[in-house]
Amino acid sequence: MSDIIIQTVYFAAAILFILGLKRMSSPKTATSGVEWAGIGMVLAVIVTFFFPGIHNLWLIFTAIAIGTAIAWVAAKKVEMTAMPEMIAMYNGMGGGAAAGIAAVELLKLSTDAGATMSVTIFSLAIIGALIGGISFSGSILAFFKLRDWLKNIYFPMQQIINLSVLAIAIILGVSFFFWHSNTILISFFAASLAYGVLMTMSIGGADMPVVISLYNAFTGLAVACEGFVLSNMAMIIAGTLVGSAGTLLTLLMAKAMNRSLSNVLFARFGGSSGGAAVEGTSKSMEVEDAAVMLNYVSRVVFVPGYGMAVAQAQQKVWELASLLLDKGIDVKFAIHPVAGRMPGHMNVLLAEAGVPYDYILDMEDINNDFPTTDIVIVLGANDVVNPAARTDKTSPIYGMPILNVDYAKQIFVIKRGKGKGYAGIENLLFFDDKCRMVYGDAKQVMAKMIQTLKEQD
Ligand code: NDP
Repeated sequence: MSDIIIQTVYFAAAILFILGLKRMSSPKTATSGVEWAGIGMVLAVIVTFFFPGIHNLWLIFTAIAIGTAIAWVAAKKVEMTAMPEMIAMYNGMGGGAAAGIAAVELLKLSTDAGATMSVTIFSLAIIGALIGGISFSGSILAFFKLRDWLKNIYFPMQQIINLSVLAIAIILGVSFFFWHSNTILISFFAASLAYGVLMTMSIGGADMPVVISLYNAFTGLAVACEGFVLSNMAMIIAGTLVGSAGTLLTLLMAKAMNRSLSNVLFARFGGSSGGAAVEGTSKSMEVEDAAVMLNYVSRVVFVPGYGMAVAQAQQKVWELASLLLDKGIDVKFAIHPVAGRMPGHMNVLLAEAGVPYDYILDMEDINNDFPTTDIVIVLGANDVVNPAARTDKTSPIYGMPILNVDYAKQIFVIKRGKGKGYAGIENLLFFDDKCRMVYGDAKQVMAKMIQTLKEQD
């Protein structure tokens, strides 16, 4: 196949990536957006086989078959609540693939005496290898942490040691330009991978979403750099898209948590302990009693969190909300930007349950309305409604904007027991005089509330 046809197909694939990404910006068109981008990727992969001089076909087919089989099974089996782990893993694989391409191209310099590379291409190959390697090992560590298989690790002079490893990686990368030695190249990759591990080790608590998004941006940039090395237009465009979208998302998430990126990466904030001890006791209430109270109010706000996703309670919540709407009660859903375990987690679930968008409000649009809200139903949310973020300077979530549900007239918190949230800290809200704990699985509590309200009618 001629080069012009190959490049045209790459260009068409890149256009499909852009259109796909655009469609992903609204829940209504998101599914087709994923399909469009997927078709673009299939096109890009197929046309690559027509590249002149491509060899090792059986190795490539075997790798594609193994990768496809694993990804197919994993994607079919993954729970909605485990999506961030899966995204972390995919990010990591992308970063690793970019670093792998760089390794193959750079190895040519040390093994083939006639091989040359311009300074620009060499620099891009090294930058791509560095950030791809960091994204690979960092994302894998993030996967382990999100699975709760690994806790935060702290050691003395951590930031100095971390930055020294990064500096060593950069020095080794530059050195390889002057001395084409395999030992230098291997040490460079080892230092890059080590930095990814070290950087992720101490980040935890409420900060993981920002870090995963940052690795997403890293992977995109690494792919774009290697796209220049291979002169592959689809890689350059796709990588730039992922890199810029990931960077924007990272900055938006850091802003939503009132943190600067350097603070997330270097301040050892968000560890899973800390905060002042809480005095007092929380008060509980029976589900039926809570349901009856809903009859006598004019405004109710639901605050969904990770627990709603675990319980798959979104359909039942909408059923209850619809009953309240039929009674003439003003009902809204308040969404915190990091509620759940991935950006937009709650929006996706509520959209799946058919909740119209007008009822779903972002934090900044609803936060002033809580003082005039009669009852807030906190459904499996915890960290995102913890007033310690406002009041307790020793708390690991201090400074993170929260949904001001403690300003409402009455709060019902629905959760199974005394389980803590992702940040692993006590919630001051639960000890508030206006707050009642309604213990139980979110879906079952919703079902019981619906039943009670229907029996009364
Ligand atoms: P949290 O993780 O703070 O709290 C979830 C609560 O849900 C727990 O306290 C748990 O209590 C309860 N729960 C669990 N299962 C059920 C169930 N079946 N029924 C009822 N309740 C249940 O959730 P939030 O959404 O408030 O906060 C999200 C946290 O996750 C933040 O700290 C955020 O930074 C972090 N994070 C967010 C990501 C994102 O992109 N959105 C990604 C990674 C982390 P109990 O066990 O007692 O039931």
